[in-house]
Amino acid sequence: MGSTAEDQRYGGVLVMGGADGGKYPDGNSFVFEGSESRLLVDPSMTVHGRGGAPVPVDGVLLSHVHEDHVPGLTHYPTLPVWVHRDDHPAMVSIDGLMDAYGYEGELRAHWQEEVLRDFHYVGRPDATAFEDGMRWDLGGGRTVTAIFLPGHTAGHCGFLVEPDGFFAIGDIDLTGFGPYYGDASSTLEGFRRSIARCREVDARWFGTFHHKGVIEGRATFLALLDDFEAVIDRREVAMLEHLAEPRTLDDLVRHRFVYRPGVDLSFVDMVERRTAELHLAAFVASGQVVEVEPGRFCVAA
Ligand SMILES: [Zn+2]
Repeated sequence: MGSTAEDQRYGGVLVMGGADGGKYPDGNSFVFEGSESRLLVDPSMTVHGRGGAPVPVDGVLLSHVHEDHVPGLTHYPTLPVWVHRDDHPAMVSIDGLMDAYGYEGELRAHWQEEVLRDFHYVGRPDATAFEDGMRWDLGGGRTVTAIFLPGHTAGHCGFLVEPDGFFAIGDIDLTGFGPYYGDASSTLEGFRRSIARCREVDARWFGTFHHKGVIEGRATFLALLDDFEAVIDRREVAMLEHLAEPRTLDDLVRHRFVYRPGVDLSFVDMVERRTAELHLAAFVASGQVVEVEPGRFCVAA
């Protein structure tokens, strides 16, 4: 334990920058500090490697349950853990987490082993579920409010620290990769609504779990958020171009609209499939795409 040069303070928030600029599988973790208590947010691989946060903490908040947001929890087996109701099953047990990803068969077995071994996942049946608007009083006038931002996962949330105006936005991470909605529990429409909700929140600092770290100033944040959301639009345009001819879901998976051709991760095909399914359903619902024969889809004439 102990602070490092990378630890930075923003009002009542201590930021522990993850290795490699917070690139997956690492990320940036936060400690929200009041006069009476401190809460650790999303304990990363770096927090795991450091043996915990640099200061004593009284509880752990999770923006959502993904393998890279929980490795440091192993150092706090008896502390209270809070997670949104819709991600709660994924924190209770590894089965709940695997169901949220939606993987089956060999991939599920393989990924489960990886999450347990490399990300140190330990189920927490004692985790407490919260809902949108949940508030924690840390003492000294400092509060934390949960803001429900689903889409990335079913229960993904941001946390607004006041009076500082620090908004932790989890995996609405503003990366060039763009929004991730490739799990069984992800939704495309939810993600779009959550981006819109982020635009309404007035804050001074915006803290992401990956890459960007802390962004200062709402105007800068809003510009980055526009770029981030535009990735969804680009995926849509690319898919519609591909659907100029009748295609199956397998065709879309093979073509890849999320990952580059060279990326070789075990879950790529599943994420491509889930992402394509969500876009296809939206296209069909809006009438832009029709099912020309069973399992084959094409842009409407
Ligand atoms: Zn995530």
